[in-house]
Amino acid sequence: MAVENLTAVLHGINDIRLENTPIEEPNEDEVLLEMACVGICGSDVHYLVHGRIGDFIVDKPMIIGHEAAGVVCKLGKNVKNLKVGDRVAIEPGVPCRVCNFCKEGSYNLCPDIIFCATPPVHGNLRRYYKHAADFCFKLPANVSLEEGALLEPLSVGVHACKRAHIDIGSNVLILGAGPIGLVSLLVAKAMGACKVVITDLLQSRLDVAKELGADATFLIEKGMSEEDNIKKIHELFGEAPNRTIDASGAQASIRLAILGTKSGGIAVLVGMGAPEIQVPLINALVREVDIRGVFRYVNDYADALSLVATGKVNVKPLITHNYKIEETREAFETAKTGRGGAIKVMIHCK
Ligand code: NAD
Ligand code: ZN
Repeated sequence: MAVENLTAVLHGINDIRLENTPIEEPNEDEVLLEMACVGICGSDVHYLVHGRIGDFIVDKPMIIGHEAAGVVCKLGKNVKNLKVGDRVAIEPGVPCRVCNFCKEGSYNLCPDIIFCATPPVHGNLRRYYKHAADFCFKLPANVSLEEGALLEPLSVGVHACKRAHIDIGSNVLILGAGPIGLVSLLVAKAMGACKVVITDLLQSRLDVAKELGADATFLIEKGMSEEDNIKKIHELFGEAPNRTIDASGAQASIRLAILGTKSGGIAVLVGMGAPEIQVPLINALVREVDIRGVFRYVNDYADALSLVATGKVNVKPLITHNYKIEETREAFETAKTGRGGAIKVMIHCK
């Protein structure tokens, strides 16, 4: 092969290999991208460690990676929105475009969506990768390719905050200060929330949240009762928060999200933990606390890009580690162990 296409392929549990794969030819509505950077997401690590997420099973080799940005190097013949040399963020899920969900605008719910690095669909941690041109977002000159890759988790935060109806004056409780909790914090602030309190089990993550603009943080400690945690959180707000976002997936957090939210408020669930958990549903019912789910994002990439391009949100501090594609295994080890205070680990493909 004349040009090498170094690619990170997940073969099975704890078995990630760098291989040369063919460079694909873009079809008429696609562009070929020279990949620039790919962030590691918790789900990538989950596939590496467990080989599956729920019913999605890695039963044959799968290229990993979905938080990505690259540079257009070849155009399909129908592509009009991009040109060679454009730097783009890649929205990794391309829906069928014809089902009712797609037609109604809820394309994140499309049953036939093709989503990078969700088995059996390959991801984009490789030097060259082709993608639907209309799911590529051209980056303005003041937005870096690293920021472009971070539009993926940022879009989850944008969608979560929209689903939470965050508005001027909202009091927002965020449970979990991993990348998703942190981007939700940034977006909630940008949307006019007046007070954001964030929780975690790790003080180091709360310290990052504080630097990113959290008004207060709350360390969840062993031995504290649910009632005490709720009381302390309410004290930090001066009342009960009217908006809550769970970004941990932990049962204890989801219970706090329901019990801690002000009557008439909204509790949004983003974290994905065990498929079945025990929650005080009647408490939500009698206090009219709306519980709303979040699945990825839908029509949120452009908003995420605007937030970054206009400086309303700064995602750069989330990147704690950088690696070359040749160092993919080491990069995953850092993401897996959280060593060195890892939040977002970025892999550079060139
Ligand atoms: P992460 O594991 O880096 O962060 C989760 C954080 O929650 C960690 O810092 C952890 O210490 C903290 N935590 C765990 N138990 C807690 C508790 N009881 N109270 C407070 N904090 C607690 O993961 P992430 O990448 O930030 O993602 C967060 C969650 O969102 C994951 O469950 C992930 O699967 C999910 N997710 C969902 C969607 C979606 O579309 N719904 C999209 C992306 C991620
Ligand atoms: Zn569809």
